[in-house]
Amino acid sequence: MNCKNAADRIYEIDDPALKEPGILRRFSLALHILFCSRCAVRLEHYEEARFLLGTSFFPPSPDFESALMSRICSEEEAGQIFDTPGGFSTKGWVIVGLIVLLSLSSLFFGKDFASVALDQGSSFLLPLGITIGIFLTGYGALFIGSHLKELSERFKL
Ligand SMILES: [Zn+2]
Repeated sequence: MNCKNAADRIYEIDDPALKEPGILRRFSLALHILFCSRCAVRLEHYEEARFLLGTSFFPPSPDFESALMSRICSEEEAGQIFDTPGGFSTKGWVIVGLIVLLSLSSLFFGKDFASVALDQGSSFLLPLGITIGIFLTGYGALFIGSHLKELSERFKL
């Protein structure tokens, strides 16, 4: 028996198709391993790998999904999911919205605005209007999206 045959025999040990290897095969493998240190080491490694695969050497991880879902459910019941601690209150949102609106509309009264508007003509107003519109629409959408629960309770939707 050469080393290639011996390796095949080693891997055949756990082959379910060859559950009962012939006594001659076992004997020839044992004989080869007796004289070939390389195959003896290979058999040893194979046995170790089989042992590691058979035992669960990775500890079972705690079930993250159930912990997370129970936390979400308890927060939903307590109504905490939409007003995060440290976030803006509705008053804060309105104040910031007014500041943004005032600062955007004060653009028209700046000194630079007059000179740029004179240079560019009325074509300058279109991108400016679009920009202001995008800002205000985005802010409004963000406000409504983050206060869906409050608004639907207040307006009984
Ligand atoms: Zn060998």
